[in-house]
Amino acid sequence: MSVLLNGIGVSKGIAIGQAYVLYREQPEIREYNIPKKRINHEIKRFHTARKQAQKQLHDIKQKIANDVPQDISQFIETSLLMLEDPVLCDGTIKQIEQRICNAEWALQSQCDRLVKVFDDMDDAYLKTRKDDIIHVVQRIQRCLIANDQAEQSNDETDYLKGKIIIADDLTPADTILMQHQRISGFLTEYGGPLSHTAILAGNLGIPAVTGVRNAKQLILANDWLIIDGNNGMIIVDPDRKTLKHFKSLQKDEKQRKRNLFELKNKPARTLDGHEIILNGNIDRPNDIKTLRQFDHTGVGLYRTEMLFIDRDENPSEEEQFETYRRALRALKGKQLTIRTVDLGADKEMNSTLQHGPLAHNPAMGLRAIRRCLKEPDQFLKQLRAILRTGAYGPVQMMIPMMTCISELDQTLILIEQAKEQLKKNKQKYDARLPVGAMIEVPSAALSSHTFAEKLDFLSIGTNDLIQYTLALDRIDDEVSHLYKPLHPSVLKLIDITLQAGANQGINVSLCGEMASDPKYTCLLLGMGLKNFSVQANSLLEIKHIINNSRIEKLAPKVRKLLSLSYPDEIELGLDDLNKQFNYQQ
Ligand code: PEP
Ligand code: MG
Repeated sequence: MSVLLNGIGVSKGIAIGQAYVLYREQPEIREYNIPKKRINHEIKRFHTARKQAQKQLHDIKQKIANDVPQDISQFIETSLLMLEDPVLCDGTIKQIEQRICNAEWALQSQCDRLVKVFDDMDDAYLKTRKDDIIHVVQRIQRCLIANDQAEQSNDETDYLKGKIIIADDLTPADTILMQHQRISGFLTEYGGPLSHTAILAGNLGIPAVTGVRNAKQLILANDWLIIDGNNGMIIVDPDRKTLKHFKSLQKDEKQRKRNLFELKNKPARTLDGHEIILNGNIDRPNDIKTLRQFDHTGVGLYRTEMLFIDRDENPSEEEQFETYRRALRALKGKQLTIRTVDLGADKEMNSTLQHGPLAHNPAMGLRAIRRCLKEPDQFLKQLRAILRTGAYGPVQMMIPMMTCISELDQTLILIEQAKEQLKKNKQKYDARLPVGAMIEVPSAALSSHTFAEKLDFLSIGTNDLIQYTLALDRIDDEVSHLYKPLHPSVLKLIDITLQAGANQGINVSLCGEMASDPKYTCLLLGMGLKNFSVQANSLLEIKHIINNSRIEKLAPKVRKLLSLSYPDEIELGLDDLNKQFNYQQ
């Protein structure tokens, strides 16, 4: 019988497929036999993974502060001892030799034996020690699996093709990996609409629903599912009639998108003749291919974090330079806006993740420019790489999460330092590379006139601006109903920033998700926005609305909306406006 579940639609589109339930906490351990001649190789695999697990724990030990609770440091010490313990290590090797099986399984069997010994003990304290063994074993198993996955060819990862992933939560790195594995959609138990994972799903065109509590209990592996990312609905085990209905919706949606393709590579211009800049957002140079499928456009936001996350070490200056150049080359003369790295909050490097969430409010912690200014040597590498890329085409640099003008002053000093270093080394760079800032914190919006005086452009990041203005966590689905782009305070801050740019005669773009949502296009045009940077998927739809709008008619009506006090009133007014002005073909 079909079951209906509800969540938050975070990435549009309908996906139909079988469920693949991802158990991240506990790696899925499969048993298989190995050829006898591979026994030594398997033992070596085990030792490599064991050493990696040791290194991870040593790194954690070094990085945690001295004042962490004793339980935690003791736990790490115990885990390290276990990793050397002959009962665990020699026992596993014996299992590999005797059962001629893979290391993961041998380790699991040995673990089960040890757990049983602990279970049989009377001592309550010692009984709890079995959790430590399980933890250590899982750490080694994860290393074994991770090493294998790195070696696996694409064909061997095909088991996810066409599947709908069910997970408690996904990281942006998981999402990218899964897109390569050609999943058809995903749903998670946690996570709000503006998490970076959700945004990435939108960028990659993967239908997704989040905030579906207990999904992993309610959905079994291989259950047939329909997920509707437009309104957050999930149907488990749909009957034939429902399946037919959603297949036809899927077909209509495809047709509608195909019709929009007539706008590909045409200018974005309103009916009353205003030229609008319509750029795309990317996370990796490869995304430019997707962008190109829709339009020959520039990039208004290149989030460089993907180059930094899911690895232990920072990328070198050369690696960064080569990556940015690849993006620039792919753009064939169109502008590339590279945002300096915005690590922190829900995007972290492995090395930071390993020592756990130390900050209680990571979105308000050492994130983005704050972190870069704290690690100036690392930051200088990125600044030099961007400046060098600028020597090969139209590049501009954008700084995220500015809160105070003194941060900008420090950043500008570092940019000058980077230029000096490049000059000294006789390296090619763009000495006049435009520098801009993201306006995504209320304090920056309120001071945007001062930022505008010192910068070449501004770009409004509504994802964070809304989070910080309304004091709600953008990745927490419990408060996603309070995430209101149409809150009058948010609109006021956007308006102030647009005015600041206009007064100073500099470009102001908007690259947050509001720009990608067709619901807000008329509003933003009426407020005076002339520069949108959107998800690849939304490019043509937004262009369609722009090309059917008249700013002169919109502006006075939008001003009236801006004077209203309640988000719901504004929403109703905007619905009316959209009906009047959109899609008048
Ligand atoms: C934003 O905050 O609106 C933005 C574009 O940046 P990010 O989503 O990467 O935080
Ligand atoms: Mg942001």
